[in-house]
Amino acid sequence: MSRIGINRNKARLRGALGIRARLVLLALILVGPLMAERIRSLDATRTHQIAMAARDFAGVAQHSADAQREVFASIEAVLKSSAYIYTSAAQVNRSCAIMRASLRGDMPWLRSLTVAGADGIARCSTWPEVIEQRFDFSDRPYFKKAVETGEFVVSDYLFSRLTNQPTVMAAYLAPGLTKDDDAVVLAAVNLDWMSKIMGNLGDRPGVTTLLVDHAGTVLAAPPTDASAIGRPMEDLALLPMIETHLRNTDKQTGSLSFSASDGSQRAVSFATIPGTGAQLIVSVDEARVSAVANHEIRTAYLQLAFVCLFVLLGALVVAERLIIKPIQMMETMAKRFGRGDWSARVARNTLPAEFVPLARAFYGMAAQLRGRERELRASNEQLTVLASIDMLSGLANRRGFQSRLDFEWLKAQQSGDHLTLLMIDVDHFKLFNDTYGHPEGDACLARVGEALSSLADRCSGFAGRYGGEEFCLLLPGTEVARGIQIGEMVRAAIWNLSVSHATSAHQRVTVSVGVASATPAALETANDLIEAADASLYAAKRRGRNTVVEHGFVRAYGTAVSLAG
Ligand code: GH3
Ligand code: MG
Ligand code: MG
Repeated sequence: MSRIGINRNKARLRGALGIRARLVLLALILVGPLMAERIRSLDATRTHQIAMAARDFAGVAQHSADAQREVFASIEAVLKSSAYIYTSAAQVNRSCAIMRASLRGDMPWLRSLTVAGADGIARCSTWPEVIEQRFDFSDRPYFKKAVETGEFVVSDYLFSRLTNQPTVMAAYLAPGLTKDDDAVVLAAVNLDWMSKIMGNLGDRPGVTTLLVDHAGTVLAAPPTDASAIGRPMEDLALLPMIETHLRNTDKQTGSLSFSASDGSQRAVSFATIPGTGAQLIVSVDEARVSAVANHEIRTAYLQLAFVCLFVLLGALVVAERLIIKPIQMMETMAKRFGRGDWSARVARNTLPAEFVPLARAFYGMAAQLRGRERELRASNEQLTVLASIDMLSGLANRRGFQSRLDFEWLKAQQSGDHLTLLMIDVDHFKLFNDTYGHPEGDACLARVGEALSSLADRCSGFAGRYGGEEFCLLLPGTEVARGIQIGEMVRAAIWNLSVSHATSAHQRVTVSVGVASATPAALETANDLIEAADASLYAAKRRGRNTVVEHGFVRAYGTAVSLAG
């Protein structure tokens, strides 16, 4: 895009962004980083909370596994000591009785203790039914394994044939003098007890704790998940992952993240119960754990939204009250100035401090404009006056005279008074110019003007230079007789100036005067009066000049004659 185009777009954008929009933008720019920081810190808090929860539950898994481990360790100890007692007491043929007598009564994690011979047939048991029914363990994998390995063996989850209750069997070989004398001590583990020691792990939302055998069947669970016992765990896919993890890390505990079959993301902590193939698995639903944090974050977002809204509204209110309103007040004041109301002012206490200098500048500007307006009016008046004055004679020019005539005509129309007009023309002035030169002619005209002016003053008339060497004298409220008298005074005044005019018959400068007098009612327009006075003047010229002639009357007055005469 060309530079002109970019500048045009910038100007358009600036035009679109009013003060309100700019203030809102400013508020957003100010609040934006705060909001971003708050959101970042809330997200960090959530991550931290999840990490803390995962660590917390890993600890729980570890402790619970330790508890289970202790149970199995004590079972192992019981089996080993029972095997020893049983073997030792074999010589006195009272091995079964001695072994049973040696058993402690406070071992709630054991349901029964049985000794089977190398052939798998029960020989001695804390449960009489086992002997009575000659129970045969020889086909049991844990029995076979104990015989083969001579080690402490724990079975997978199974149902007791005798009680039909779920259980886990532990077995340990008690070697005899000969192979035929070998015996295997067997213990049925009380899974209820195993679940009971997990009881403290229940009631945690989003947390599942299970003790599973190596096939994934649930051996024990807190009371809240009791229904899972004896069933394969829900997410069997987790087991191979745990196995791989244990193999890779070569540890008995660990943790990993896992997408469960229900779609939830779970943080899993696990611990192996040594020598048993059982695993204690604690899995935490990250969404449930972070629910509290999420709720807090939602609340915080809501708060932020309110803060933003509040800030934006605040910016608008502030813009309206502190900027827009003062501007509108200034605008109203400027409009009043425009109408010529220079006294317009804005109440100072309604203006923010920043606007006071602007208001003062307005007042100053108004004062200057007012002064200039006065000057302009004065100069206009002067110009009007100048435009109405003839500079040579000092009398009103034709324009000035015409406006005065119109004014007096109106006045006479209202009053019904007479209005008399004298048209005065210098005789043979062309010859005067020819004889004495134009400047001398000008000087002569100036003297005629002076004389007319003083005469006008005396008889309350208004004198003007009608054009060239032609003058006029307007006499408001004057009837024709007085007009003829004043005409004669004019003639005589010029005669008495005694300005030499060698090429005139009178040897001095003289004027001819035409007189016309009427009431406005008698004539149509003021121009009719001028035409009448002009006609009288023409008549005066014809009558030999240096004469006063009145329009419409046959009357001689001094040297004056009427038109009709
Ligand atoms: P009449 O007696 O018939 O009026 O004869 P006149 O010569 O006065 O009349 P005309 O109209 O023939 O000549 C008027 C002269 O007035 C012509 C002109 O040069 C002169 N004039 C007009 N205005 C001025 C002026 O302002 N100054 C001078 N010096 N002469 C002027
Ligand atoms: Mg003349
Ligand atoms: Mg003339």
